[in-house]
Amino acid sequence: MTHIAVLGSTNMDLVAYVAKAPQRGETVTGREFRTIPGGKGANQAVAAAHAGADVSLIGAVGADAFGTQLRSTLEHSGVDTGHLRTIEGPSGTAHIVVDDEGGNAIVVIPGANGTVTALAPGDEGLIAAADALLLQLEIPLDAVIAGAEAARRHGVRTILTPSPAQALPPQLLTSVDLLVPNEHEAAALTGVTDPREAAAALLDQVQEVVVTLGAAGCLYAARGAAPLAVPAPRVTAVDSTGAGDTFVGTLAVALGEGREMPEALAWASAAAALSVQRPGASSSMPYRSEIDAEAGS
Ligand code: AMP
Repeated sequence: MTHIAVLGSTNMDLVAYVAKAPQRGETVTGREFRTIPGGKGANQAVAAAHAGADVSLIGAVGADAFGTQLRSTLEHSGVDTGHLRTIEGPSGTAHIVVDDEGGNAIVVIPGANGTVTALAPGDEGLIAAADALLLQLEIPLDAVIAGAEAARRHGVRTILTPSPAQALPPQLLTSVDLLVPNEHEAAALTGVTDPREAAAALLDQVQEVVVTLGAAGCLYAARGAAPLAVPAPRVTAVDSTGAGDTFVGTLAVALGEGREMPEALAWASAAAALSVQRPGASSSMPYRSEIDAEAGS
């Protein structure tokens, strides 16, 4: 079985649905409230677990009701939480207002995620035994760097989703094998809006890049090879939340199984296309048999 380690965030999303978001000083009555487990680390872990891998999440939740709920949701999805610490204080939360036009405004309080500044005893052994380590940027950069360096020491493939976009220190990029930005993150990292040019610029710093392009699919670029454009299946999208995390989680599983990059990208694209046809983030992530059927494999 493929082993995937994820080092990253776990959040509870607190979502208020309103006709029109309030202005400063204004109070409005909303229509609905939902609590939705999220965080890019947890979402990528669930995507990889649904896709059939043995997955462990390294991170932290708070000693509160959200922490208990987040942990049990992950376990229910088949994610091992033995390396997910419970710390004093609140869990990470995202406070989201969604209006009737689909626009949103979000406040993220890192909470427990902000305490993940280094690897804990045992984390390096877990990373060493994995086929791939998945990283994002919703925990402190020091921990992301420590994780990437541990993976490098043990020859484990690292896949970094540079979200939320921020300047990436060379110390991190030298330990990353594959960078997977969306087109906005690729532009923010390079100052170049054309995805092909942005991918080419990123190859100065990493070996391999996949720029995801929403309904237009993705673009793979590697040093010394011609770029490869992979179209997305044509589907009717109802909610693209978590599409990028589904893509990365399933891509890691396919690569961990030893599939070649073009086949792995097609499989990840099939999984992400399934996820956008359903509401929610982790709740929309497809299982292996569904991905195989969609990908025709
Ligand atoms: P994004 O983060 O929006 O770039 O999306 C990540 C991946 O999800 C893309 O590379 C596609 O594989 C898939 N995806 C996103 N939106 C759609 C869509 N409307 N139709 C099909 N696939 C999609």
